[in-house]
Amino acid sequence: MGKGFCGKILHIDLTSRRLDVEELSEEFYKKHLSGLGLGAKVLWDNINKGIHPLSPENVIGFTTGLLTDTGSLFSGRFMVVSKSPLSGGWGDSNCGGYFSPSLKRCGFDAIFFYGASDTPVYLYLDGKKIEILDASNLWGKDTIETERSLKQIHGKRSQVACIGPSGEKLSLISGVCNDGGRMAGRSGLGAVMGSKKLKAVVAAGKERVKVYSKENVLKINKEFLAKINKFDRLKPIITDKLFGAFGLFTRLTPFYPRQPAFFWGLALKKFGTPSLTAMCSEGGDSPIKNWGGTGYIDFPLKRAQKIGAEAVIKYEVKKYGCYSCPLKCGGIMKVKEGPYPIEEMHKPEYETICSFGGLLLNDDLFTIFKINDLVNRAGIDSISCGSSVAFAIECFENGILTEKDTGGLRLKWGNSESILKLTEMIINRKGIGDILADGVKVASQKIGRGSEKYAVHCGGVEAPMHDPKFDSGFGISYYCEPAPARHTVSANQYLDLQFLEKKFKRAKKVPLLTTKSDKFRYDNKGAGIAVNTFYKMLIDASGVCFFGTQIGGDFPICEWLNAVTGWDLSNDEYLVIGERIEQIRHSFNVRDGVNAIRDYKPNKRLYGDPPAKKGPAKNICLDINTLSNSYYDEMRWDVKTGKPDKEHLKNLGLDEIIEVLHRE
Ligand code: SF4
Repeated sequence: MGKGFCGKILHIDLTSRRLDVEELSEEFYKKHLSGLGLGAKVLWDNINKGIHPLSPENVIGFTTGLLTDTGSLFSGRFMVVSKSPLSGGWGDSNCGGYFSPSLKRCGFDAIFFYGASDTPVYLYLDGKKIEILDASNLWGKDTIETERSLKQIHGKRSQVACIGPSGEKLSLISGVCNDGGRMAGRSGLGAVMGSKKLKAVVAAGKERVKVYSKENVLKINKEFLAKINKFDRLKPIITDKLFGAFGLFTRLTPFYPRQPAFFWGLALKKFGTPSLTAMCSEGGDSPIKNWGGTGYIDFPLKRAQKIGAEAVIKYEVKKYGCYSCPLKCGGIMKVKEGPYPIEEMHKPEYETICSFGGLLLNDDLFTIFKINDLVNRAGIDSISCGSSVAFAIECFENGILTEKDTGGLRLKWGNSESILKLTEMIINRKGIGDILADGVKVASQKIGRGSEKYAVHCGGVEAPMHDPKFDSGFGISYYCEPAPARHTVSANQYLDLQFLEKKFKRAKKVPLLTTKSDKFRYDNKGAGIAVNTFYKMLIDASGVCFFGTQIGGDFPICEWLNAVTGWDLSNDEYLVIGERIEQIRHSFNVRDGVNAIRDYKPNKRLYGDPPAKKGPAKNICLDINTLSNSYYDEMRWDVKTGKPDKEHLKNLGLDEIIEVLHRE
């Protein structure tokens, strides 16, 4: 058996309470790695075509990365994989914190849950014991109370991934939470746990996985750290003013200079993702007023800065980093002032700040803090929840919803009180909140009356806080990703930041943008987005943090993988593994009759139909057909059926997919 992985996964049937340990060969790991790759393969093999995501027939897996707990940097992420109740197709979401190494130390690379329990349960495992335990006392508790209670029972060093009341109430926009506020929020996978009455997984393993060459791992770490820390002396010049100026420059220049990775690294180190708030609002990347507004006009820089990096960081009492992370972009906050004092919470991410800030024209920082705490405790995805609030406000503004529908609540852009109230209603599934708790697609189907034009989603999943008209790469990935509306897979700007052309032959032929108008040449974007996607699959199979790959220093992922496993695979061979993972995720959807290009079409606002009359997106209507066709071409997917080319699948060693998709 090779090194760096446990070689075992655990299958648990919650209906019969049966546990099965499956051993996997080294060849399996060479083909799929671990993390998302392992998850994709197991779900392909074990989920039947056409099952309902909230039925006992669905499977939910928690997978650790191949690099997790091997001593390599940034390697603390775990993936949650399942069929998504929100999109109805492939679902996954990943998260940092400390859960992943603790799970791997139990001797398993992954756990998969089948069936459903009659009563609330949680799983406890520590490398010696595996127990399904009663969770009746935990049902109804929020994620932080749940974690606290379980740590009291199983010890402080145990790590907990759990759902809150939103997952229990089967909210389709609920997620899985760990470490007091880190969230695997996308794809609605909290509801899958809720449907299985699985409140939590508690991992308290102690046995570290064997590594082929610890010495090499440490050497690679040292070299990489020297590169990414080279510019640390410039940290003092990184301010909100600079972010605003950067946004303004992006907006005005006709050129497209390569994104400065070291700048992004410094911003993350100093402020975390709130660095993006002012920059993206001013530059045109942030959606404003439910995607109908323009940053610098409707939510000018001064307002964006009120909820920007410097305003947020004032309340940070200590830095927070996930396991083995040298960057520490997170923070622990204490809010003593204002109407909603909070003793302790994780710093809100940009996505949360924008979803409850510019998207709603809300510049009240204290409300955003309060909502951040509420959504983390409820275990609900902040992007989807903020988008549902935005949808409701716009419906109200246009008379589609009235006070009769909202129980007397007057919804208004920027009214922080009603925004908070509505968020609480969504969390508690009260009144109109019950409809909104399943996301904007379901809500618009129930409300009708033309509301669907305000429901900004792709394939049922609310769009993240980055505008495809700002980065046309998102125009492909939101649309064609097997888990739609995903901003952390591929984009033109990630190609800039990751320097993939130095790593992979296939990336060398990818044209980088040099002028702003290059963004809007649509027929040549597929190649770059494909390489970028394969790389992200490699990242998620390794369990490393996406941010580590974007901060300069030529992220040594393949070097780490060879050092921990003892393999001698080339970078290009690793990229092929990334492609294999993507093909399996996509085929999972095709087997169910889902073809992204037909079924995950974005809301028209996302691509500018009709085009904006002012601002950075003025007169821009993305040609999403050409964009998506260029990606399908590159992926060798048939536009009409979505099926991957048979020969190509053969070359990737995916005969099991050929058998199902090309049977006739
Ligand atoms: S960069 Fe941030 S999200 Fe990524 S591992 Fe570090 S602390 Fe976690």
